[in-house]
Amino acid sequence: MAFESLTDKLQNVFKKLRSKGRLTEEDVKIALKEVKMALLEADVNFRVVKQFTKSVQERAVGQDVMNGLNPGQMVIKIVNEELVNLMGSETTELPIKPGNDLTVIMMAGLQGAGKTTTAAKLAGKIKSKGKRPLLVACDVYRPAAITQLQVNGEKQGVEVFTMGDKQSPVDIAKAAVAHAKANQQNVVIIDTAGRLHVDEDMMQELADIKSNIEVDATVLVVDAMTGQDAVNVAQTFAEKVGIDGVILTKMDGDTRGGAALSIKSVTGKPILYVGMGEKLSDLEQFYPERMASRILGMGDVMSLIEKAEAAVDQEAAQEMSKKLKKMDFDFNDYLTSLEQMNKMGGISSILNMLPGVGSKMKDVESMIDEKAMDRTKSIILSMTPQERSNPGILNLSRKNRIARGAGVDVAEVNRLVKQFEQSKKMMKQMPGLMGGGKMGGKRG
Ligand code: GDP
Repeated sequence: MAFESLTDKLQNVFKKLRSKGRLTEEDVKIALKEVKMALLEADVNFRVVKQFTKSVQERAVGQDVMNGLNPGQMVIKIVNEELVNLMGSETTELPIKPGNDLTVIMMAGLQGAGKTTTAAKLAGKIKSKGKRPLLVACDVYRPAAITQLQVNGEKQGVEVFTMGDKQSPVDIAKAAVAHAKANQQNVVIIDTAGRLHVDEDMMQELADIKSNIEVDATVLVVDAMTGQDAVNVAQTFAEKVGIDGVILTKMDGDTRGGAALSIKSVTGKPILYVGMGEKLSDLEQFYPERMASRILGMGDVMSLIEKAEAAVDQEAAQEMSKKLKKMDFDFNDYLTSLEQMNKMGGISSILNMLPGVGSKMKDVESMIDEKAMDRTKSIILSMTPQERSNPGILNLSRKNRIARGAGVDVAEVNRLVKQFEQSKKMMKQMPGLMGGGKMGGKRG
């Protein structure tokens, strides 16, 4: 997880400050020196670090300590606010036009940054907002990129416009816009060709597309794992092609995170989204405030809540709550709850966002066995609908058949059935808990 080591280091600095009764100017200076080192080690751009510590220093020294906060907390508060400022304060949305007006988005980036994957992820996001996107394959140098876009587009249920690899990107883009207009599609997302390094031809090609069709937003995709390079690439694109925002991919990897902290400040362009994994659902809106509290180790409770709200089907949750009250929940319900957990990205991704858990994730991870959850799921899926809704009929021969179907040992099927019965019994003994249950109720 990104920022792990930065978070640990900052927490150490703050711990030292907290143990002091009053802070002298010297204390602040020493603390900020450590903050500076931590940021540099996290691969944050040198100039950005310098400016950052300067503003924190000015504010920390010049300011009276606020009521209710000790001096250490005051510094944390200031560092937090300055981190938010650094990343752009406000969340920036893509300028998608209302109604049926056509919006054209051009994706740019180096090869391997995750451009094609991200184009498909973005198409899914836009589609879920009720728009009709069209993906356009303009990477004519890498035939594999066209196929990749087609495969991902299909997964997202989004049409992919392609003319093979014999036409110029400008001609394809023009034809795609006409196609979108003729088919009532209202957001065109153009996947362009990347190169291994920044080069003139690539820049020219992007400029050509821009001067031949009306592009509403140019979105640069950069790989967070490349740290300072990502920032340099962004700066070059911003100068040569002009970009409106950045999507930072691979933030799920063990990047030190410096790119996220430097891009806005160096290029003047905001981060729009962050890629958090290889799956097409792993694209998250970028919230500077939440990212700052994640960096400071305060967890990201807001993201968690939002993720839960998007993934959990309220109706299914309410239904489940009713069943729990009546004690007639069965394996179908069990399956539904496992699936809802999966939609939220699995247990480890949920834990990662909880305050205090982030940096201890490694210990926690070893305790959870997501594979075991997958096996549970396949056991339930191997049951017949009758068996799922009426576990009482599960005799040995049925259990053997289920074990074969799920590719597990029959002992595992037995264990699951037993656990299931036990938890049912336990709930029976806790009528108070289930009776006034708010589970599934709409959140505030
Ligand atoms: P392109 O050359 O820029 O079009 O890059 P691709 O879309 O082909 O992506 C390159 C590789 O990065 C693929 O293996 C993707 O699955 C992977 N990738 C893209 N985004 C992410 C991300 O957010 N997290 C992780 N872990 N992998 C990603």
